[in-house]
Amino acid sequence: MIRVEHGDMLQVIPRLVADGVGCDAGVHKQQRGNEKRRQKSAALWANRRPEIDRLYSAGDWSLARLADHYGVSQQGIGKVLARMGIPTKSKGRSGEQNGRFKDGSQSTIYRTMVEKDACSSCGACSDLCIHHNDDNHTNNTPSNLVVLCMSCHSRLHKQRWWDNQKASAS
Ligand SMILES: [Zn+2]
Ligand SMILES: [Zn+2]
Repeated sequence: MIRVEHGDMLQVIPRLVADGVGCDAGVHKQQRGNEKRRQKSAALWANRRPEIDRLYSAGDWSLARLADHYGVSQQGIGKVLARMGIPTKSKGRSGEQNGRFKDGSQSTIYRTMVEKDACSSCGACSDLCIHHNDDNHTNNTPSNLVVLCMSCHSRLHKQRWWDNQKASAS
């Protein structure tokens, strides 16, 4: 999902200037300073990402509460989320965009987990899938979802199958 927000446009313009669209050395210097600050803040927010995913995207924290928590304005946190591609859940939105969509595989939270997390069993970061604890694939409450890599996932299901065999044999 690609969403262009107002904040993104503000990022694009300085980049054009830095690329040498008729500017003097002073501007270049200033742009480099801005770029450094931007990278620093990007790294900072990347560290906070798991917390934001947990409390806000998957949890019931509001944008206001999140902004309060980090000591920034609501507008500021909105820009940060947009930059990181985290959908905001405002009251006016319904369905998948609010991150608490009940139905299956296309929900935001589901995708966020697959894209951003690592296998909870071995820590692998690729070939991830979502395992449903209760095997009900429409139950996407966060506590029912586990991020696993493909191999850990198939191992888990094989193990379950054997356990079932044993249980029915005895
Ligand atoms: Zn794994
Ligand atoms: Zn599974």
